[in-house]
Parts: sequence; C-alpha cells; structure tokens
Amino acid sequence: MKTVKQVSADFSEQLSTIYDVNEVNSLCMMVLENIVNISSARIKAFPETEIPTPDNEIIANILTRLATGEPIQYILGHTEFYGLTFKVNPSVLIPRPETEELVDWIISSVGGSELAFGKFLDIGTGSGCIPISLKKNLRGAEVSAIDISPEALQTAKENAELNKVDINFIQDDILNPESDILNSKFEIIISNPPYVTLEDKKLMQANVTDFEPHTALFVPEDDPLIFYKAIADFAANHLEKGGMLFFEINESYGKQIVEILSDKIFTDIELRKDMSGKDRMVKATK
Ligand code: GLN
Repeated sequence: MKTVKQVSADFSEQLSTIYDVNEVNSLCMMVLENIVNISSARIKAFPETEIPTPDNEIIANILTRLATGEPIQYILGHTEFYGLTFKVNPSVLIPRPETEELVDWIISSVGGSELAFGKFLDIGTGSGCIPISLKKNLRGAEVSAIDISPEALQTAKENAELNKVDINFIQDDILNPESDILNSKFEIIISNPPYVTLEDKKLMQANVTDFEPHTALFVPEDDPLIFYKAIADFAANHLEKGGMLFFEINESYGKQIVEILSDKIFTDIELRKDMSGKDRMVKATK
C-alpha cells in the first residue's frame, strides 16, 4: 500500500526534470482522480489516504510512460474540450485551449442568426472536437467534417457517438478534394489546419513533437501557408454569400493570412489574439 502523499513524492521524483512543479501536481491529481476515483478535494485534504495495490501498479505504469514525455491525454485515452469529453489517441492532435477560444468565437458570431441553421464544414477535423462542440451548442446546424486520415475519422466518429451528435464525416484531402464537398455550398467553413514550421518545431516540447501526429502539425518549410491558400480558395467557391470562414492560425502569419483573404472576395476580416496575447484566429465574410 502507498499513500496519496507517497505517490505524489514518486511523481515529483520521476517527472521534475521534464515538467515544472505545477504540471507535476496537476498530472498526479489527474492520475489519482482517474485511476483511484477519488476527488481532488479528498486528495488534497487527506494525503494519508491509502491507495489499493492494484491501483498502485497501474499508477506506476502510467508514471513510467509519463517519464518518457508521453502526453497524459494519450495515456488516459481521453481529454476535456469545451466542457465535453473526447477520446484521443496518437492518430489525432490533442485538443488545445486556444481551439476552445475559436469555437467560442464561432458560437458567439453565429448563434442567434440565420447562419446557425446553415451547413457547416470543418476541414482537418482530427478528434472532431470543433464540429462536435459546435453541433452540441448550435443544434440547428447541419455539420460536416473532413480529414485525410481514416484513423482520425474513426476517432472523430466515436467522439460524435460519445457526445450524441450527428456529424457527416468524410475522408478527403483539401489539397486535392474529390468527395461530395465539391458539389456543396456551406454557410460556415472552419479550419485549424497544420501550421507548425520546422523553425517552430525547434522551440516545441518533445512531448508534442515525439508523440502527436506530424500530418496534423507540420507544414513544408517552403510553403507554410499551403493549407490557408487552398482553404481560402475552396471557401471562395463553396461559401454562400454572407457565409463565414474561421481559421486557427500560426501566430507568426496573421498579416499574411489576412492578405490572402483580402486578395480574394472576403470582407470584414478580423484577426484575434488568444488568451496568451498571440495572433491565433481569423474570421472573414464572403
Ligand atoms: N497549436 C498547436 C501546437 O502548437 C498546433 C496546431 C496546428 O498545427 N494546427 O501544438
């Protein structure tokens, strides 16, 4: 038997070289809550609480995996996004808080208008976190989502089931689309495409670059805006007049992306910062 206090000392010992003290505490808390099923209030108030041996073995295994830099979300197999639970695995990017801000922006821009009852398309959906949280909050919308990866789409479908929403998932490559999306028009198009450059990669933590899917993250050095150009083109042809395009973006390319959009037929282009004060999202109207 080990106590909560002893487990938390094991976490500090094994993880303090790769995570800071707050991250180690929150990882420990997350693991205890998920595996031992005790509340964080109890963990904090009763550090002498004993943890049953079978749970201890599971926790020891998790700790070994965490020490390699593997993200906790992949180890536990789920995460929270916009108040909902999503399954995650290495075929999908782990949903990020800045993407919650994008979803929030879409809901506040569209909610209460006619657009909320229109057709939505999310391009490069990954876990499905964007279309599922939109459909959950804009029940009248007809939501479709594409991804190039069959494994990601499988995960996204499971997430739609888990969250009890209907989404039309389609496998396609936006750089070379062949599916029915070519014959459709949409009121709202959204994308959080790959936008990380090799230069950014040097500054990123190993637990992102070593474990998360590279097709979801990285862009070619010679054409970092390849997806933005293709999606702006697609949206110029496939948005209804008055429809809106929403992007999550690389903080270094705000200006260029606004230019790409204003060179096409888009108006009311707005660049927005995330909670860290970095240019992170763009909205444009056709
Ligand atoms: N925001 C993600 C990261 O920094 C990148 C997401 C993306 O490439 N679309 O890890």
